[in-house]
Amino acid sequence: MNKARIVILGAGYAGMMAALRLAGKDRNQRADVTLINASDVFYERVRMHQVATNQTSASHSIRKLLGKRPITFIQGWVRALDLERQVVQVDGQGEIGYDYLVYTLGSIPAQVKLPGVHEHLYAIGSPKQAAVLRERLIALHPGSRVAVVGGGLTGIETATEIAEAYPGLPVSLVTAGTPGQGLSQGGQAYLTRSFAEMGVTVYDHTRVAQVEADALVTESGERIPFEVGIWAGSFEAAPLAREAGLAVNAKGQMRIDRYMRSISHPAVYGAGDGAAPVEDPGAPLRMACAVALPMAAHTADNLLARLEDRPQQPFNFGYVVQCVSLGRRRGLLQFVHPDDSPKERIVTGRMGAIAKEMIVQYAYRSLPAERILPGAQVWLGKGQLPAGVEDAALPPDAKPVHS
Ligand SMILES: Cc1cc2nc3c(=O)[nH]c(=O)nc-3n(C[C@H](O)[C@H](O)[C@H](O)COP(=O)(O)OP(=O)(O)OC[C@H]3O[C@@H](n4cnc5c(N)ncnc54)[C@H](O)[C@@H]3O)c2cc1C
Repeated sequence: MNKARIVILGAGYAGMMAALRLAGKDRNQRADVTLINASDVFYERVRMHQVATNQTSASHSIRKLLGKRPITFIQGWVRALDLERQVVQVDGQGEIGYDYLVYTLGSIPAQVKLPGVHEHLYAIGSPKQAAVLRERLIALHPGSRVAVVGGGLTGIETATEIAEAYPGLPVSLVTAGTPGQGLSQGGQAYLTRSFAEMGVTVYDHTRVAQVEADALVTESGERIPFEVGIWAGSFEAAPLAREAGLAVNAKGQMRIDRYMRSISHPAVYGAGDGAAPVEDPGAPLRMACAVALPMAAHTADNLLARLEDRPQQPFNFGYVVQCVSLGRRRGLLQFVHPDDSPKERIVTGRMGAIAKEMIVQYAYRSLPAERILPGAQVWLGKGQLPAGVEDAALPPDAKPVHS
């Protein structure tokens, strides 16, 4: 029997999960699985603000994580895709043919067109960017000002992590709206209190119009001076899908159907930050590892179904919590409805930090768990949340906070 050549691009949360699940569950050995990634290291991308503050490398050997699973790992930069000939061009490795492609190349900081952003702001989307920022932060003198642009969870985590790790550096957070807009009133109030206690100055409803070498210039002409400026505004998909001619949305994410297949090229499947369903699977999908892991597991299941002539299943997904770290000593766990809208219930402070750390560890440990026990990754779909699950999700001794 000829095996189907399945090539997976990118070994982030989504690519690793897809590879391990496919190889682990393929008992009839119908697939030849190849995983290609720029680096031979898996980075816990959700810890990049900790890398930037010199607390961890957040890196793990990909080969060790794959263990003895029958997965061919190729280290190399994927330069181009030829969707007609079904080949992938990899720097230094030539062309690699596929029958099915899994596109999991993740995201990059949005390529915004504001003058000065690329020249004067640091980014925090990749290990390389985080390492460059780390060296710059280490070299700063006390009193040097840090300005973070972006009031989403990445901006909040970055600003508070720096404020806690370097208490001598005044930190500003600049956002067009208010920080943590998706949180409940109680969650936002806790954020405001934490910023004040941690010495983070918030400029809300403030749009940056341009960036100079030493200051953000807002639309109203105000200058917010900095020694280090950081872009944590928005993210977009890696550019390869668009460049190759796959159907993509405005963020460059490959548009996929309910079975995780490209709507333009059904031999290509997609998961993680680089893919977005055209049909709501039960909730709008955020760029998050909490989403990337189930998407990738479902992709693997559907690919196997396709190889075994079984019907593919539509993706069904619902949220339980959002969590945000505020340095290492406090965090915020926000319970949400399956559609990601906030409930009033939050867990804060030290317990919030512990819960967040447990969730980040769980995201990474899902990978060895999937290797040891194929099919281990499970998630809740819309309408599948059993009563009482919120309490089960609380860490031991956590006291829920009602605002
Ligand atoms: C600072 C920060 C904090 C975050 N915090 C959270 C959080 O608390 N919770 C949460 O759920 N999410 C968080 N996120 C988002 C989360 O990291 C992403 O949603 C997640 O990493 C997406 O997984 P992925 O597998 O799709 O992509 P990635 O993890 O980005 O993996 C993509 C992989 O593809 C590789 N690659 C890309 N292009 C190429 C190429 N051309 N050739 C070869 N290899 C390539 C990359 O090197 C990488 O290994 C955070 C992100 C950042 C930056």
